Amino acid sequence: MTAAAGRTLGSGKPAEAEKERKMSRFDDNRSKKIIFVSSCLLNTNNKVRGLARYPGMCKEVFDTLHRHDLGIQQMDCPETLYIGINRWWYTKNLYDNHGFRTHCRECAERVVTYMEEYKRAGYKTVGVLSCDGSPTCGVSITSYDENWGGSPVDLEYNDAIIEGQGVYIEELQKAIEDRGLEVPPFYGLALDDESVDMDKILSDFEDFIVSIC
Ligand code: SF4
Repeated sequence: MTAAAGRTLGSGKPAEAEKERKMSRFDDNRSKKIIFVSSCLLNTNNKVRGLARYPGMCKEVFDTLHRHDLGIQQMDCPETLYIGINRWWYTKNLYDNHGFRTHCRECAERVVTYMEEYKRAGYKTVGVLSCDGSPTCGVSITSYDENWGGSPVDLEYNDAIIEGQGVYIEELQKAIEDRGLEVPPFYGLALDDESVDMDKILSDFEDFIVSIC
């Protein structure tokens, strides 16, 4: 005899009831694991002009996050909100001023509130994914050159690249610490640098994701 549709073979119970028995009222399919990502990784239209490497986003990066069941929380773009899409290129020393730091801190506080709520619910913030080389969002590489500023002249951004963090990343880490939360691992993707091999960027990134999941 064949079991009727919608019933579990052998048990005689309706499939729905069996499902309910297995799941408590609040259970669903969520992973309870979240990664925070810089705005332009999901929407490259926020990039300073001349630096968008993709039409929309780098699909390979998000395929990796999807494979590891991570929820993606997009952070605000501090530069777009502060001076818009048509901004000049800046080095960190130009952005390192009271007004921009205060703005970055405000953006960071909202992000930390998300982290705090996730923690209260028992979810895990597994990391922060950002953009190396940015004066604002660099994690291990940013830019600094005192020749930048004043009347525009022809300067090479690559000459200003230094080790260090961008203004927003510094404010975000301080905001997390000040709220008494554990600082999650931060990772900077070097997607802006076309001289860096893309396969190497993606395989290093996959190693990072595996290490935090
Ligand atoms: S690196 Fe940061 S500031 Fe620059 S476009 Fe991306 S989100 Fe905006």
